[in-house]
Amino acid sequence: MSEESSAVTHPFLDLTPLTAARFASIEDRVARLLRTEQDVVIMQGEALLPLEGAIRSAAGPGTTALNVITGPYGQTFGDWLRDCGATVIDLAAPFHTAVTAEQIREAFAEHPQIDFVSLVHAEAATGNTNPVAEIGEAVREQGALFYLDAVASIGAEPVLPDAWGVDLCVIGAQKAMGGPAGVSAVSVSERAWARMAANPGAPRRSYLSLLDWKERWLDGGRKALPHAPAQLEMLALEACLERIEADGLDAVMARHRRAAEATRAGARALGGGLEPYVYEDREAAPVATTLRAPSGVPASELVVRALESDPAAPLAAGGGALAKEMIRVNHYGVDATQGAVRASLATLGGALASAGLRVDVEGALRAAEAAWR
Ligand SMILES: *Cc1c(COP(=O)(O)O)cnc(C)c1O
Repeated sequence: MSEESSAVTHPFLDLTPLTAARFASIEDRVARLLRTEQDVVIMQGEALLPLEGAIRSAAGPGTTALNVITGPYGQTFGDWLRDCGATVIDLAAPFHTAVTAEQIREAFAEHPQIDFVSLVHAEAATGNTNPVAEIGEAVREQGALFYLDAVASIGAEPVLPDAWGVDLCVIGAQKAMGGPAGVSAVSVSERAWARMAANPGAPRRSYLSLLDWKERWLDGGRKALPHAPAQLEMLALEACLERIEADGLDAVMARHRRAAEATRAGARALGGGLEPYVYEDREAAPVATTLRAPSGVPASELVVRALESDPAAPLAAGGGALAKEMIRVNHYGVDATQGAVRASLATLGGALASAGLRVDVEGALRAAEAAWR
């Protein structure tokens, strides 16, 4: 073997270092996407990093948290909050619906000491979306800190932390933005910074620390990065933001909304006992559509069969116990297209037919096409 290194440069390697100015400009682009004047911190990991970091930074033994559960992520947030020593009041909504602002107000009336609210905007895992604008109004009346997981909603539907009074808004690029999974961002209000500064348990000198980023990056005017940046992921995030800006955020969101409407209409027309998992259209997330498998036919088996005949269809069975009854159509990012919706309906129709059920694939495709227009 030659002892000389290969002279061939590789597109993922041999990159010039990502500068602090470039990193800051990508943060500014995220802020524009969120229409926010708040500080935006990009964190060097998958969205669970700022999701966990924000909770551990802002909540502690003195916190009384209202934790809304409309899917698996809400359950995880409750566990983190309890682990921080917070008193947690769980408000669970069945996975086929959304939570209402009225339910939030009732919880405040019952527990006036609530000073923190955690909510998932849209859940890709359960296919529902919550009315954050209305809930935000209720949270403001209470004066509580408002924490929002917008990972599955950003790019698929409006996410407006300033207008809605969200103090900690976490996003990731891997769903409707069609970007990388390895970096994520959180917008932080002045109130949230003050809460963290007053929290003796807030992580410091830790990967989870938001205060470290404030002290070592934001307060210094974003001149020097505290760590080596995740360069490839930052470049991918920048490219994905550029693509959204070029297409127009409204157009990107409209594609997701149409994909959801077309999938729901198609599933209803398909028959065979398949139906939208989330009953109400307005409570169905634009990012992904969940369907209820006919009784007696496990969803996971239908998905395996459907993917055998079309491996490219963006289908998955629900996670955990939901694998029996829930089919997920993940029509986000590059799959927020009419083609992906058609492919999903056609191959699911085939799987239902081979399970002995009567389906109308042509009717489903026509209904999906009409809903898309
Ligand atoms: C997808 C998603 C995340 C990010 O988690 P991954 O499963 O690792 O992609 C966080 N929150 C919500 C609501 C999500 O849908």
